[in-house]
Amino acid sequence: MAASDLINLSGLIDDAKCFALVRQHRWPEGTCCPVCDSGAVIRDGYDDTQPYRQRYRCKACAGRFDDLTGTVLAGHHQPLRVWVLCLYFMGLNLSNRQIALELGLDASDVQAMTEQLRRGLVAKTPPVELTGEVEVDEVYVVAGHKGQPAAVAKRGGSDAIASWQARRAAARWRRTSHPSSG
Ligand SMILES: [Zn+2]
Repeated sequence: MAASDLINLSGLIDDAKCFALVRQHRWPEGTCCPVCDSGAVIRDGYDDTQPYRQRYRCKACAGRFDDLTGTVLAGHHQPLRVWVLCLYFMGLNLSNRQIALELGLDASDVQAMTEQLRRGLVAKTPPVELTGEVEVDEVYVVAGHKGQPAAVAKRGGSDAIASWQARRAAARWRRTSHPSSG
């Protein structure tokens, strides 16, 4: 697809679905409190300025939170749909520069976003369990690190793993956001 076809892509993305994606990705087993981990959570209306951003109240600790609380997606100046597209493009292995072109953003903004997505969102998602359909692409396995984790860390092993997790997460979002039409 030519770049020009994608220029206004973010304008075509459905905000409601983006928030639904975040919820699904973040709480696959049902909403739980980011503070105390309790599942005794009730819905508490929507954000004042973002009509699809669900708010919640925890019955266990009386804490309040919403769909984005505690994620890198909270309090950022980019709308959620731009983050979702960014994650999608990361899953396609586009460079920061390419993503910036597609989204009409500064490359430096995109670099900050992809760094945050790799660190923040991935770090806050629960460990992935491989059940059912499994999609693996470009897995980088750090070999020969038996007994030498420090040496591996120095060579960037943890970075490689984090990047793989980011791509995996992106692939899952991609699948969720584009269910097969057949
Ligand atoms: Zn709580």
